Amino acid sequence: MVALAVAAVAGIGGALAAPRQGSSQNAAEIVTPPPPAATAIPVPTRSEVPLAEVALCDRPEVQAGLAAGDDSAVIGAAGGGEGLRQAVIRGIAPCIDLRDPSHVWFVVNKAMPMEPIDYAPADWVAPSNVPLGNLAAVRTDIAPTVTAMFEASVAAGTGRIGMQNGYRGYSVQQRIHNDRVASLGKEAGERLAARPGYSEHQSGIAMDVFGCTPGCSSSEQFGTTATYQWVVEHSWEFGWIIRYEDGQTPITGYDPEAWHLRYIGPELAAAYHAGGFHTLEEFFGLPAAPGYLD
Ligand SMILES: [Zn+2]
Repeated sequence: MVALAVAAVAGIGGALAAPRQGSSQNAAEIVTPPPPAATAIPVPTRSEVPLAEVALCDRPEVQAGLAAGDDSAVIGAAGGGEGLRQAVIRGIAPCIDLRDPSHVWFVVNKAMPMEPIDYAPADWVAPSNVPLGNLAAVRTDIAPTVTAMFEASVAAGTGRIGMQNGYRGYSVQQRIHNDRVASLGKEAGERLAARPGYSEHQSGIAMDVFGCTPGCSSSEQFGTTATYQWVVEHSWEFGWIIRYEDGQTPITGYDPEAWHLRYIGPELAAAYHAGGFHTLEEFFGLPAAPGYLD
């Protein structure tokens, strides 16, 4: 058993030694075609791998972390954020369910609804010491990361940041979606409002931010503020990424949203930043999700 565990760690360590090439500095110069679009809800496949690597989900630390809802413990047992990413991509981590919104590795897009589709977090709260707009609450355990990030922006001299549209429940999203589709038609309406069960906001670990220096402006204006550039460079240090970047619409299915931040935890965010990634789909080797499947 001991030999098996050591072999598993060595396997992940080996993967760590060969990170994806590229960085945020030179990514713009490298033109890579987007992955093929999803034609069905992606199902992780288990590829041919040595037995020791398959054992990731059988390891006691991983099972204990999953049972306790301790994502950091699971990621640590996988050898860190890059180790977990490699395990998912290689199809050797069947216990890492990307569709489960309760975990930081969760991915939802137009080809991949959350499971369960009417998921709601156990609790949510407004981050303290932060300018707040409507629906200003995120999952309680990650609220301190919002306060810490926004205080760091002030300390860096780039300005205050506010947040709104954190957790938005299934029924609220259903009403917004129905209203948009009723007034604009299905195609135009769905460009503005995600279907219930398909919005990151339903997970409680996403939010829309806005600049508050000198005064608070709208989220749509955030991309033009000085604080936006600070967020681009530093949000990963607090576990957050900009989910819908410019130029990624064919993969994410969403127009760029400079203001929409998503929490993936400090370990995964560090791997995301170090690898120069711009979409969660590419980070986890998922098909592009340009639109709904029906
Ligand atoms: Zn948003």
